[in-house]
Amino acid sequence: MNISTATIGYPRIGKSREVKKALESFWRNKITAESLLQTVKEVEEASWKTQAEAGIDRIGIGDATLYDRMLDWAVRLGLIPQRFQAFTGLERYFAMARGKEGTPALEMTKWFDTNYHYLVPEINSDITPKADFTGFIDIVKRGQAILGNKAVPIIIGSVTLLRLSRLEQVELGEFLNLLLPLYRSLLTELKALGIEEVQLHEPALVLGDAPSLKEHFQTVYTELATVGIDINLVTYFDDLGESYSWVRELPVAAISLDFTRGNNLDLIKQHGFPEDKRLGVGIVDGRNIWQIRTDKVLPLLSEIKTLTSNISLQPSASLQFVPYDATKEKQLPEQLRNVLSFAEQKLQEVRFLARTLSGDNPQIEQELTEDLINANWEAFYQFNPANDAVKAKVDNLSPQDFQRSLSYSLRIAKQIPLPPLPTTTIGSFPQTQEVRKLRLQFKKGNITESEYQQAIAAEIAKCIKIQEEIGLDVLVHGEFERTDMVEYFGQQLAGFAFTEHGWVQSYGSRYVRPPIIYGDVVRTAPMTLREYKIAQALTTKPVKGMLTGPVTILNWSFPRNDLSRRDQAFQIALALRSEVADLEQAGARIIQVDEPALREGLPLKLERWSDYLSWAVDAFRLATASVAPETQIHTHMCYCEFGDIIKDIERLDADVISIENSRSNNRTLQEVTEGGYSHQIGNGVYDIHSPVVPTTEQLVSQLKAGIANLPLQQIWVNPDCGLKTRCWEEVVPALKNMVEAAKELRDELKS
Ligand code: GLN
Ligand code: ZN
Repeated sequence: MNISTATIGYPRIGKSREVKKALESFWRNKITAESLLQTVKEVEEASWKTQAEAGIDRIGIGDATLYDRMLDWAVRLGLIPQRFQAFTGLERYFAMARGKEGTPALEMTKWFDTNYHYLVPEINSDITPKADFTGFIDIVKRGQAILGNKAVPIIIGSVTLLRLSRLEQVELGEFLNLLLPLYRSLLTELKALGIEEVQLHEPALVLGDAPSLKEHFQTVYTELATVGIDINLVTYFDDLGESYSWVRELPVAAISLDFTRGNNLDLIKQHGFPEDKRLGVGIVDGRNIWQIRTDKVLPLLSEIKTLTSNISLQPSASLQFVPYDATKEKQLPEQLRNVLSFAEQKLQEVRFLARTLSGDNPQIEQELTEDLINANWEAFYQFNPANDAVKAKVDNLSPQDFQRSLSYSLRIAKQIPLPPLPTTTIGSFPQTQEVRKLRLQFKKGNITESEYQQAIAAEIAKCIKIQEEIGLDVLVHGEFERTDMVEYFGQQLAGFAFTEHGWVQSYGSRYVRPPIIYGDVVRTAPMTLREYKIAQALTTKPVKGMLTGPVTILNWSFPRNDLSRRDQAFQIALALRSEVADLEQAGARIIQVDEPALREGLPLKLERWSDYLSWAVDAFRLATASVAPETQIHTHMCYCEFGDIIKDIERLDADVISIENSRSNNRTLQEVTEGGYSHQIGNGVYDIHSPVVPTTEQLVSQLKAGIANLPLQQIWVNPDCGLKTRCWEEVVPALKNMVEAAKELRDELKS
């Protein structure tokens, strides 16, 4: 039996965030391009050595990037939209990534259902692909020098590249014909270098519309097979569904499948796996941070082993979605740290599984063993016993727990009276240097808790005063005490842990440290009450209570893998429900529960949407439905296209929703109206991502578009997202104009 090991991508941000630091220094003209490239190279080579030392047989190379891999391939293939053609080299690369004065960047969007964002190549009929693989070939040569024949170049497959691009007046199949010779020549060049195998990543094969791409895949892979280099066709994030039966016939040497998500095992059982191909078994979860559980993984592997004999064990996806090394998290309790598995630990797991499956003993003392893994988990559960009370609560929920006591149409008349077109904001106000310094001082212990709280109270007071002067109708406290809308809540809830070094890339130079949900979630004390009370005491205008919703907290964290996501969302929802009750008790007449991540959590395959939406919407309802009919519930979502889920949005049963709209030219609003949305809605009237202050006239016309689409009583007036990234000098005039625009329209409507 032949059991080898492989990787299909590795973190590329540097163990100490070297790439981020180098990028930002380069953008500030503090370091040269050579120095930036040198840093990237060092980080890349260090990761190759780590993988080689861990004993991986086939190491994926070529996925390191200055900003984004899709952008890299777009550039290598000459997919350069007209507006960037005046630039060259790095200037052009970063113009495409980040934009330049007068030259907007490529659009950015989420990479499948991950929290990573890629740049969307733009392809129109003016573009003729033209290859420049020199940079890539250099990487491959360096890889060969360091790794020998363990080096396996990673290439984004042509069908996936086009499927994820924005095609304008170009037909996918036609353009594919233009790309194919370029891919062919790349493989030929790699073969000439002595490369025996390449990975072609085609995750588009797991998307719901993959069956419609069948002929394209067949054409491309039949053609590439003639080069005579081994191809590993790599897929991840879900199963191949009905496409499996033809994918397995493609003329490639290996097929890599994800065995941590979807039903690939059943597909193989049903259709068999071709004996002449190697099966890449993505068995170690590349998307989560938990050590493998031998009682789950080993039986699964034994079963796979009975289905085909030539297998390779590997992470289920690139390890870019997890941090580097869990052993660095010294501040975490040992029992928790020992069951965490970041990239380096996952390499050891891959090795352990290959060894165990082929019946080999550990070669070195530190190598993982089954006993050690089991002991780690046992110690973890002893340290972190289940909270039976929470479990019982979730198990015993009844339909009334999800149901407001009065329906929307009956309760609105009881809610707080406001002028037509009420004005408000989404929650946060500018997080100035001083505010950030304040939080840091407190964290470092340089100021006492009471000093910190006084300073925050002063910020809140200033913010309330400014909002009153501007003339907004519904105020907020400003969120100065929050670093991040998820972290702030996680830090106060039992069951969450935070890493010191656990950075993962969100996009470009932006990295995040997702919280880890490790235990049952419980609220131990009020989380937002103090700030709400301070704010409300300063004004007779209503102040919104401000919370992050259960689905967003879950989706932006690393969840447990021993409890369903639904149950975890419900636990968080129960914690928030107590917070909502406290806010209401303290006099809040409006409470906003933000769910910006609800839409983006949708599963890749349509057939799984309804299950997700069902519990996700229920979780929101569980958090909010207990309030009296008089209490108005708001929610906020950004960057959403709602058309396809408008009925689910309505089922949230929020009284008011605020949405991002200004950048999509009222498309979102249109979708909402066409969907027959009957609750109130604040379609963001200006784009907070831009420093430009909108004029009153612009805002009036934006509002008029809203009024044309919806009955007046349904419309709120607000910016399209929180204001924390803006400065006061931008925010105050913009909001003044917004309030002015609302007033003008009110007057106009009166007369
Ligand atoms: N209330 C949050 C804020 O204003 C919402 C942020 C978001 O939508 N991502 O910052
Ligand atoms: Zn937002």
